[in-house]
Amino acid sequence: MFPHHNSTGSGPVNTSQSPYARLKTLEFENVLLKEGFWTKKTNVNRKVSLHFGFEMLEKAGNFNNLRIAAGLIKGNYRGYVFIDSDIYKWLEAVAWEMGREPDKELSSMADQAIALITAAQRSDGYINSYVQTREFYEPWIDLDNGHELYCAGHLFQAAVAFERALGDDRLLNIACRFADHIYSVFGTDKRHGACGHPEVEMALVELYRATGETRYRELAKFFIDQRGQNEMKGHRSYGPEYHQDHVQVRQVVEAAGHSVRQLYLASGVTDLYLETGEQSLFDAMLRLSKDITETKLYITGGLGARFDGEAFGDPYELPTDQCYCETCAAIASLMWNWRMLLASGEGRYADQMERALYNNILASPALDGQHYFYINPLMLRDAKYLRLSTDLPPSEVFIPDQRPEWHDCACCPPNVMRVFSSFSHYLATHDAKGIQIHHFASADIEFNLAKDQSIKLNLMTEYPWQGSIKLQVVESTNSPWTLSIRIPEWSQNPTLSINGKVAGNLRREKGYLVIEQKWQAEDIVELELGMEATFIASNPRIDATRSCLAIQRGPIVYCLEDRDQEITGQLLDVEIDNNQPLSTRWDSDLLDGVMVIEAAGQFIDSESWHGHLYQPAMFPGSINPRSTRLVAVPYYAWGNRKIGGMRVWIPKHQ
Ligand SMILES: [Zn+2]
Repeated sequence: MFPHHNSTGSGPVNTSQSPYARLKTLEFENVLLKEGFWTKKTNVNRKVSLHFGFEMLEKAGNFNNLRIAAGLIKGNYRGYVFIDSDIYKWLEAVAWEMGREPDKELSSMADQAIALITAAQRSDGYINSYVQTREFYEPWIDLDNGHELYCAGHLFQAAVAFERALGDDRLLNIACRFADHIYSVFGTDKRHGACGHPEVEMALVELYRATGETRYRELAKFFIDQRGQNEMKGHRSYGPEYHQDHVQVRQVVEAAGHSVRQLYLASGVTDLYLETGEQSLFDAMLRLSKDITETKLYITGGLGARFDGEAFGDPYELPTDQCYCETCAAIASLMWNWRMLLASGEGRYADQMERALYNNILASPALDGQHYFYINPLMLRDAKYLRLSTDLPPSEVFIPDQRPEWHDCACCPPNVMRVFSSFSHYLATHDAKGIQIHHFASADIEFNLAKDQSIKLNLMTEYPWQGSIKLQVVESTNSPWTLSIRIPEWSQNPTLSINGKVAGNLRREKGYLVIEQKWQAEDIVELELGMEATFIASNPRIDATRSCLAIQRGPIVYCLEDRDQEITGQLLDVEIDNNQPLSTRWDSDLLDGVMVIEAAGQFIDSESWHGHLYQPAMFPGSINPRSTRLVAVPYYAWGNRKIGGMRVWIPKHQ
């Protein structure tokens, strides 16, 4: 039933030995995805994206940079200073994917990349192709902008993935030599400072988890403690906030600065808490989470309102068109909320993961798996100008037909790849009492409650299109154990039956439905979450979306694409009528199969304004509205049939 290889542990995060983790991660091989929504995605990732990624890393010069650093060829370094990290993220993705199922071609590509990394590493353990290809340039000269520790962090994560998914320690040896080198340079009684882009913190904690070497955990704590000196200059005029150097980690009260940096740092801080239990760290993370979910989060799970500085905005500053919502920020949010969930056992963090996953993250890759959005706006006006990434538009063509293939700053594509290939890691956890199901996808799940107490479950669902979750016990121990299933925040009246009998008095704890009993093979639990298409309003303080409604069904947020409407080119004139019901229909031919939602609405008569932008408020406005059926598709699928006008938030018909 489960593939057998030399795997030695968990997925990207391993809390099995973490003293302050309420929830323990499962072994990576013990969750096996089965046919469904996610296997479609992971198959495209496996068969297309990872191969495409390898080609792009060659084309963009990433591999050549390592060849030059290794002295294998002559030439000049190409690209941003941090692009070694793209290779590492791609390698991490390949490792998880090969851990799920071997693949000769991917294996050969990984071997080539690992050989280059091996050749490029200096004898003292240091590796960074940018620094190594400079004349008169030494390591650690520019901690603010050099990204050396950032790249190291991604190397460590890739190394841990190869060790855990494949039992392959080639990269781990390289990683440990580099980490030891870093440890010889930085520390309380050594050099002070931290990287201008957090990332190495969580990676060092994971390296500690993978090797048991406490100095890696100490080093993570050292770098975390270095924050808040107000010394980093900041990119352009953004100041120390840009680098997360504006406030000490334990004093954090709000999300600020560059959103990916903020959330990678938060992941590292939470990882450190999981190992040390230092309450002031966790309290700071609780404040951060509250600030984000109450004032700075897009309905799509997007984070970072501002293009300038790729930064969080002020509270409620959540514009829909000129927003940023970098793919990596949503991925960082998924990673951080996973750690918060492991620390607290609270389902609201899984809710945040789900929001990011099914909307912002899923919107980044095109359905073909070889084009990616870097920026994920919630509205595109007349499709005249769209900021797709930090790249400047190639010419006067501001809107390409589709997502770009790659980016000068290609952080997002391989980040999506590693999330998809490790997706099964996030489905379930266990504790001493039983198992928790956090996310829903058809899968076989196996874990040991205690020694010789093996439990096997079969999870069946058509999520995210249907809200029915069926769990069959395949094998169970004789002792009673607890099954906890998350009830998503959007599910209003879930019902549960066990072996066909409806269960009353459902026990709800921390966002989970909890069933404690003795289980037997063939027991069947059926949960119906009640997935109805729903109108969503926004807090009136978000002025950008005041008096607008969005449509959500289950975890999926919808959007209107101009091309699907009765009259095209008038997406600015639409209004939606929430007094009429939403209707839902499955369309297997559209966008790889999606649930389409239709709503009653109208096109207002913009002509009646006679070209005026402003009129006295007594002016009657639209005189002859034209009623229509608005057609909505999942936000994640937008822009796959040529990029055109799109909006998530729709003005409400008064
Ligand atoms: Zn990115």
